[in-house]
Amino acid sequence: MLKVKPIALLHFCFLLSVFITPVFAQSQKKLKTIVVDAGHGGAKDPGAIGQYENSLRSKEKDITLAISNKLVAELKKQLPDVNIVPTRTTDIYQDPKEKANIANEVKGDLFLCIHADSGPLKTGKRQIGTHEVTRHRITYKGKGRKKKRISTPYQVTVPLYEYFKLPLTRSGTSVWIFAAHKTSDKLKAIMKEEGDFEIETGEADSAFNNFDFSTPEGKVMAQMYAKRYQEKSDRIATLVNEEVEKTHRSALGVNQRQKGIWVLQATNMPAILIETGFINNPEDERYLNSEKGQQELAEVITRAVVRYKQIIESHKANSTSTTASTPR
Ligand SMILES: [Zn+2]
Repeated sequence: MLKVKPIALLHFCFLLSVFITPVFAQSQKKLKTIVVDAGHGGAKDPGAIGQYENSLRSKEKDITLAISNKLVAELKKQLPDVNIVPTRTTDIYQDPKEKANIANEVKGDLFLCIHADSGPLKTGKRQIGTHEVTRHRITYKGKGRKKKRISTPYQVTVPLYEYFKLPLTRSGTSVWIFAAHKTSDKLKAIMKEEGDFEIETGEADSAFNNFDFSTPEGKVMAQMYAKRYQEKSDRIATLVNEEVEKTHRSALGVNQRQKGIWVLQATNMPAILIETGFINNPEDERYLNSEKGQQELAEVITRAVVRYKQIIESHKANSTSTTASTPR
């Protein structure tokens, strides 16, 4: 919680907007480093497990790694000037903290988290034949003390069922951003960088380069960054969703998870998590395990990143994002 008097905050925001807007408007933010995180990993954290235990035995950690490796290669190919940093390139376990640290240490400008979803399976039953069972018809003979119970066996034919897990019908790719109420966690990540925090403008004013984020003014500044990160996260998430829409698979939209996604909050940069598909949907599982599917996903995400880069680096984007406070 930030304890700043509302009036003071208002004044400060006004001052800040007058002071900073020209700096934001005139220089452009370059997308220099992208961090690609293959979700899960190692024997300790396989992630979700596929549906076809006998044929594919697929594990989320392997799918995320295969897609991430292809995504890294595709990003390097399409954006040769951008530094692409994977959190892992082999089947190793990493603590989420370690992943966030890697991203923060290389001063990433964008964090792409690759995952695969799974949904709850319902139980179905089907008739596989019939079988005979013996039942008993009970009758009574006589009256009073002499009353006798007579059990007469008879055969009936009943259906024989087999029970099985119904394949998941849900399929497609969804994109996740950190929940708005979790902004304070994002603030902590930003404020941790206090001191050597690079201002959004790239080659900014030297006065801003050693900004102290622990001061009340600094906290407001950090809050502004958190807001900008959220806007940018939403922008890249929307672009990924749009690119998925252009494929034959379903795009499930941009979502905010109520339960926080820790790694998205701990990274000091715009961050999204992509649930590439449902590992326990038969069709998605085949797609996620195929070279073709993995490559398509890598290209889809890359196309979104290329568009994102163009937008954030264009003059237009800088001026539209500051129109609210820029006098024309
Ligand atoms: Zn996952």
